[in-house]
Amino acid sequence: MTDPFALTFAALFGALIGSFLNVCIHRLPRGASIVWPASACPGCRRELSWYENVPIFSYAFLGGRCRTCKMAISMRYPLIEALTAAMFAAGWWYYGPGPLLASRLIFGCALIVLFAIDLEHHLLPNVITLPGTVIGFMFSFVNPPGWKDALIGILVGGGGLFLIAEGYYRIRHEEGLGMGDVKMLAMVGAFLGWQLTLLTLMLASFAGTIIGVGMIATGRGTMKYALPFGTFLAIGAAVASAVGQGMLDWYLRFW
Ligand SMILES: [Zn+2]
Repeated sequence: MTDPFALTFAALFGALIGSFLNVCIHRLPRGASIVWPASACPGCRRELSWYENVPIFSYAFLGGRCRTCKMAISMRYPLIEALTAAMFAAGWWYYGPGPLLASRLIFGCALIVLFAIDLEHHLLPNVITLPGTVIGFMFSFVNPPGWKDALIGILVGGGGLFLIAEGYYRIRHEEGLGMGDVKMLAMVGAFLGWQLTLLTLMLASFAGTIIGVGMIATGRGTMKYALPFGTFLAIGAAVASAVGQGMLDWYLRFW
């Protein structure tokens, strides 16, 4: 699947999807519709013309500012578009066309949106995690790890994290993990199965600890105000999805 024409097409298509993900990231936490109205500048409210909506290029062409009010456009827009373009090209190259590619790309898009919204708003919208769990489970009938592992994944991911959240609340009398994290890990379970879900949780906790300790050490904040856990779950799930099976195979060789 290394035909350069197909790879370029996958990247361009990914950039367009990334542009739509930016709309979701901006509008979902604000409770706004993702299909209407057309994109406008948040500064001057002027509706954007087609050449201001071209993924990645518009940002460069406009110098990162609105054409009329000169308000700075968030770096998030070109970054998400470039990341999604790279994901689509890499997915096409790695999986080739088929249901597994479709499933992993949908999963990846959900993770990108959840990561960005949780980072900014400390929120993991149900409108992503709940349909995501259903879609992941449906794909598991034709994709690895199969529906049984996916079903156990939903129960282990959602149930396990729910118990951890409850336990933390009982002991510390404050909320460490939200129900959004619980539903997000259930979605990871549906797409990846229970083994890679446990790996996701381990990777997320590990990354969270490293960055939390780093923030305390550099005096940028306490553990309590470290980044939201959903951002780490997204990173952990992305790593588990891409190289997790290899990591598990390598680890199990020692048993
Ligand atoms: Zn403007």
